[in-house]
Amino acid sequence: MNYKIALIKGDGIGPEVVNEAVGVLEAVGKKFGHSFEFVDVLLGGCATDAVGKSYPDGTAEKCKACDAVLLGAVGGPKWGSDKPAEQRPETALLAIRKDLGLYANLRPAALRPAMADACPLKRETAEKGIDLMMVRELTGGIYFGKRDRYQTEDRGVECTDLMAYSEKEIERIGRRAFELARLRRKKVSSVDKANVLETSRLWRSVMHRLAEEYSDVQYEDVLVDNCAMQLVKDPGQFDVVVTENMFGDILSDEASMVTGSIGLLPSASIGDAAPGLYEPIHGSAPDIAGQDKANPIATILSVAMMFRYSFQRSAEADAIEAAVDAVLADGWRTPDIAEPGVKPIGTKEMGRLIREHI
Ligand code: NAD
Repeated sequence: MNYKIALIKGDGIGPEVVNEAVGVLEAVGKKFGHSFEFVDVLLGGCATDAVGKSYPDGTAEKCKACDAVLLGAVGGPKWGSDKPAEQRPETALLAIRKDLGLYANLRPAALRPAMADACPLKRETAEKGIDLMMVRELTGGIYFGKRDRYQTEDRGVECTDLMAYSEKEIERIGRRAFELARLRRKKVSSVDKANVLETSRLWRSVMHRLAEEYSDVQYEDVLVDNCAMQLVKDPGQFDVVVTENMFGDILSDEASMVTGSIGLLPSASIGDAAPGLYEPIHGSAPDIAGQDKANPIATILSVAMMFRYSFQRSAEADAIEAAVDAVLADGWRTPDIAEPGVKPIGTKEMGRLIREHI
């Protein structure tokens, strides 16, 4: 097959980790007989520097002409919150997700066997194994609702952020979660705050309807505060966890920390049509940019998700994941995951070792 892939290298360590992931794509191409056409797409702080806005005109169209999008990371202190919205990298991230219709964010949090010691939880908790998939609604809720800020007569300035959800938005993310669970351990935990929020009560009623339809999948409701506790008490109980945008933003970061390192975790954002967008969960890490210190594994594992979810090619995805596990099992570590006394290797060397294993 020939795949056309948009590369958004972005800012900070973005270009370094994407370069290693491209090397891995080429190694997979050689092994499985695929070829790739890469299209560079400018987005983020680097785009602000080049053309004055973080989301240049035509960005979505360029991406839509591709089979998948690979993104490194965007952002940095240079383009902070004092800058106008159109110059801020975060604006571009929200815009590309919306324009590509990427309403489902998939974030696996799995403790890789060689990294069990990096889990900050009790050994007996880690030994039970952690392998969950957070499914976060990505284009609705409070992050996209109407905002207001106004002066009152007696209470000073007042602000509102509106959280809105429609049945249709809930149903499509719910279906994604149930379909994914069917490919995994067949359990869905739906997280809400139905004891307080009206949006959560609608969320819950739609999920219950889907749970009847997908009766082969075990289903449970979990309140968001309880979910936050359970993720550190017994994360092994979860298989697929589905939730709305803001809860998912917070819980997916919590889930990622129980697996040890931010530099190891990939993500996928998908909609009903191609292209899906694949990116590491970490940011642009300006503190280590340009020093050959970034861990490229999260981006490389994002490429594995690309093969699995955009190209429906699980053998290629398995090969990438197996190569990562083999390199970690051999004891190779970048500085972020190196145990005391272990001499770390750089970004490029980690990429080379993984390619070699493939
Ligand atoms: P960050 O993820 O960039 O960094 C947090 C810490 O983790 C830093 O110490 C960093 O050195 C380390 N780290 C991150 N990725 C690493 C890797 N691959 N290998 C080794 N160490 C790694 O988060 P932050 O510092 O809060 O944010 C920095 C910038 O990134 C901000 O501008 C923020 O807005 C942006 N950001 C972008 C995205 C994205 O592009 N999707 C996501 C989160 C943050």
